[in-house]
Amino acid sequence: MLFTFQLSTPSQGLVEITSEVREAVRESGVNEGICVVFCPHTTAAITINENADPDVKSDFIMGLAKTFPDIPAFRHAEGNSDAHLKSSAVGASEMVIITGGKPLLGTWQGIYFCEFDGPRERRFYVKVMGD
Ligand code: ZN
Repeated sequence: MLFTFQLSTPSQGLVEITSEVREAVRESGVNEGICVVFCPHTTAAITINENADPDVKSDFIMGLAKTFPDIPAFRHAEGNSDAHLKSSAVGASEMVIITGGKPLLGTWQGIYFCEFDGPRERRFYVKVMGD
């Protein structure tokens, strides 16, 4: 089953989407399987990271800004090459194991939609497979 979700994002930041993924898995009725969370945008990404200390989200964005600075030599006319680099570095998808009808996540893990060039209206997909 394929689920589509929409969200409004900040200029840059991590938006937690764990509850949406849990909802998709629950609605699919799949007990044992896998789900793929996919971002169809080239300046955003999906990741799994800590959901306890909110400072991790801002440090994540700050660290990526240091690693992928917006440099004058970039040629892409839209002016958001740093966001494109971050998107590919973090990745467009995450795959999560489903067991007992729930996504298998560590105690401190959350699933995040990462915005690198917002604010925008975005969407992501959750494909649930299994029995
Ligand atoms: Zn661009």
